[in-house]
Amino acid sequence: MITTEQTRTSAAAPGSLFGALERQPADALLRLIGLYRQDQRPHKIDLGVGVYRNDAGETPVMRAIKAAEHRLADTQATKAYLGPEGDERFVELLAPIVFGSVKAADPCLTGVQTPGGTGALRLGAELVARGAGRPTVWIGTPTWPNHAPIFREAGLAVRSHPFFDPATGTIDFAAMIAALDQAKVGDVVLLHGCCHNPTGAELTQAQWTDLITLLTERRLIPFVDLAYQGLGRGLDADAATTRALLEAVPEAIVAYSCDKNFGLYRDRVGALWVKAADDGRTAAVRDNLLVLARSLWSMPPDHGAAAVREILEDGVLEAAWKDELEEMRTRIAGLRAELARAEPRLAALADQGGMFAMLPLSREAVLALRTDHGIYMADSGRINIAGLRSETIAGFVAAIAAHLQR
Ligand code: PMP
Repeated sequence: MITTEQTRTSAAAPGSLFGALERQPADALLRLIGLYRQDQRPHKIDLGVGVYRNDAGETPVMRAIKAAEHRLADTQATKAYLGPEGDERFVELLAPIVFGSVKAADPCLTGVQTPGGTGALRLGAELVARGAGRPTVWIGTPTWPNHAPIFREAGLAVRSHPFFDPATGTIDFAAMIAALDQAKVGDVVLLHGCCHNPTGAELTQAQWTDLITLLTERRLIPFVDLAYQGLGRGLDADAATTRALLEAVPEAIVAYSCDKNFGLYRDRVGALWVKAADDGRTAAVRDNLLVLARSLWSMPPDHGAAAVREILEDGVLEAAWKDELEEMRTRIAGLRAELARAEPRLAALADQGGMFAMLPLSREAVLALRTDHGIYMADSGRINIAGLRSETIAGFVAAIAAHLQR
């Protein structure tokens, strides 16, 4: 952590380029990883970093990925450059999984490979910044802490709208709609496609319908962040709202991550799709995506996307991937149900989706759990449910019971 003392900078010498730079706070979650590593207690529990873990506490390379990587090692003939669009076949094969086979062929839709979901969000943000009308980007609170910086670094104005009421652990839909009602035509609304990070909370079907009506009537542009497809309700169910949005609105953006559902985290695999208002505009959108990508990263890293392509080109590997993803999803849903059963004040977790939940814990309680029990979670009370194991869940529930605020 950076102290006030450290943030104070000495007067910059005239002409110094970097003398005026301020110290920056370390990323809170990355800092938590460091603290967890230093803790020598054998029973410590890591619920901080957002990676899937199996019941042994491991984040293994998925079986289908291992097989695809072996194939790549045997057959890949070159590592010569691709282009800023990355692996086009990867994007083409992924599109039907995201949009369904009919919509994937929509000529208004254009997609490129990106370095992870983060790269997709940044590329989308840069495209928005090139668009008409200086749009504001509306982001619900709480959200993934990297969302606002990504849009701000692209030069965009960001406004937050309420989304979740921590006191009740439920979505405050009326407040969300009231805030979005202030958005101006052409503003962009960032939405989590599924498995909301950090709350796990999901809009109901009726609420999605109302939200889509608002977006359509007010001509707001949805920017969907779909980073956990298949880890909530299932591959198709987790894409349902993205598909409904794309059906309803003329223009939309979808940032996608394969880093969770293919377990590729550090290999940085993602994609960005943009839906243009008509197929005559798709080419200009794509040209701009390519020019932006070229200056941002020239081209995305190949390996992980090539492994995904190998899987999606082969029916057997694809089925093996879907099976393992379903095992992961079922484990998370099982842990949610178990937590809800063990502690009535966590009942809401059973109805939520994905790896994350916000527990009603004060910051002091979070720190006490860290110090007294070696339980590591974000200061906000967000937990990665997949960090729990059958042998640790009872002790975890007992430890938090005294601190729960609801
Ligand atoms: N969106 C959300 C909501 C996320 O939680 C994350 C990762 N934590 C991302 C995007 C970025 O994913 P990636 O690692 O693929 O960049």
